[in-house]
Order: sequence, then structure tokens, then C-alpha cells
Amino acid sequence: MLHDGAHEAIVSEEDWQLAHQQRLITGVKQEKTHSLEHEHILSGILKCPVCGGGMYGNVNRKKKKDGSMYRDYFYYACKHRLHIDGKRCDYHKQWDEDIVNDAVADVIRRLVRTTQFETAIREKIGRRIDTTELEKKLELKRKKLRQLTGTKDRLGQQIDQLDFDDSHYNRKYQDLQERQNTIYDEIVITEADIADVQVRLNNIRQQKISEDNVYQFLLYFDKLYDKFSDAEKKEFISSFIESVEIYPEKLPNGRFLKRIEFRFPVFFNGQQVDMLSWDAEGTVESSGFF
Ligand SMILES: [Zn+2]
Repeated sequence: MLHDGAHEAIVSEEDWQLAHQQRLITGVKQEKTHSLEHEHILSGILKCPVCGGGMYGNVNRKKKKDGSMYRDYFYYACKHRLHIDGKRCDYHKQWDEDIVNDAVADVIRRLVRTTQFETAIREKIGRRIDTTELEKKLELKRKKLRQLTGTKDRLGQQIDQLDFDDSHYNRKYQDLQERQNTIYDEIVITEADIADVQVRLNNIRQQKISEDNVYQFLLYFDKLYDKFSDAEKKEFISSFIESVEIYPEKLPNGRFLKRIEFRFPVFFNGQQVDMLSWDAEGTVESSGFF
């Protein structure tokens, strides 16, 4: 206590009062002015139930009644972008970020807790991807390229060996030259084919790696997710979830999730699925799982 007079004041009573007043006005020296680490985890992934556009995170800073502290209220809302028909979306509900984030995390938690999920995931991670067809194709294209290059070189040699004194020199030269041009065209096409197959192979391998990473994490979701920072949660969620659809309002039973689309197949009710839907027949709702 700098101002109670029991000890020699380092700051005078007057100064302290002044500083204190100032703090109340400027809001400096709050215990926590705003959440520096906060990230809007489902920004863009959560879809507006009216226009289908992405909903984005916003912050609303509310001052506490005694004026001493602020509390940040984070919410998702539609951006009301202008539509093609010139109208703006009129959905104005603000969804508390924690509530939506928790509901989605809860779905994943329930999903991964089943032994069926774990078995399927482990099997998937261990499995090698079958790229033999593409690899075979790549080998054939490479072989073709070698043959074409050989033919092109031979034609070049024949052109070099043409006899100037030959009475048909010009026609023979032209003939060989045309054949060589045709081969060049084929070489260009074959090289493009090879590059194309290689890109496809790389994409498949890359996809497999990111898929495995996500699945690997899902196995430990329960233990790890809550320990993640918001930034990490956001990174994981966006690598795993394509979109989250909600109803315009909470349903009478409190539920508001309508559909979650995943980037990778998940296992649910003995099936491999890309999405969970609460409003379609025979899916989540009737399973009694959620
Ligand atoms: Zn909207």
C-alpha cells in the first residue's frame, strides 16, 4: 500500500490518487484488457444459416459495472455481404464463440471416443496408398520419351549424313526435317504428360501425409485439444473441418448444429462418412449418438 502512510510513501498520496483517476479513465492497468491469445477458431468455417456465407469472429468489449475491468465478448456473425441481387443478408444473430466452439469440439470428442473410430483410424494411418496405376503410367510415359528422344537423335544423324550431291537432297532433307518436327511435337506432349502424372502422384502423397497427421491427432484429441492455444485449435480445426452449418436459432432441445462437413472421412455408425448431418434421415439424430 503506497498511500496508507504506514511506510514512507514512494508515491505521494496526491500522485497516487491522480494516477488512479487516470487509470479509471484510460483503462490502463486492467487485470486483463483483452485476450491477446484469442483466435476466432471457426471464423469462415461456420456458415450463416440464411445466406450460407462464412460467419466471422468479432469482439465486443464490455466494461464491468464498477468500471474497473473490461470483459471481451467474442461472437460469430454474418458479414452481410452484398449479394448478386444487390440485397444484403439480414441475419443478425450473434453466436457466442465459446458455445459454438465447444459444441463442435464436443462432437469430435464423441466421434473419436468410440473404439470403432480408433480401429478404423489406426488402420487408415498404417495403410499404404495405392499409387501403382499412376506409377505404371509414369514409367510407360518415360519409356515413350526415351524412344522419342532416340528417334529424334537418329533423324538428326540422318540429316547430317545426307549427301549434298544427291539429286534428291532437298526433298530428302525436307522429309527428314518434317519427321523430326513431328517427333518434337510428341516429345513436348509426352513431357507435359509426365509432369502431369508426377503432380498427381505428389498430390496424393501430400494428401496422405496431411490426412495421417490429422488422424494421428484425432487419436489423442481428448488429451490434447484442451491444452492447445486458440491458434493451434484453429489450425487443427481448419485442417479437419470443411464447414459447420447451424440452424438460425437454437432448437427447443438446445441443439443448434445442423451439419458438419469434414475434410477427411470419419467413422460413424459403422460407416465411413464425410459429414455428420442432424437434419437428414437416418443420420446423426436417429442414431442417438449425439
Ligand atoms: Zn448471412
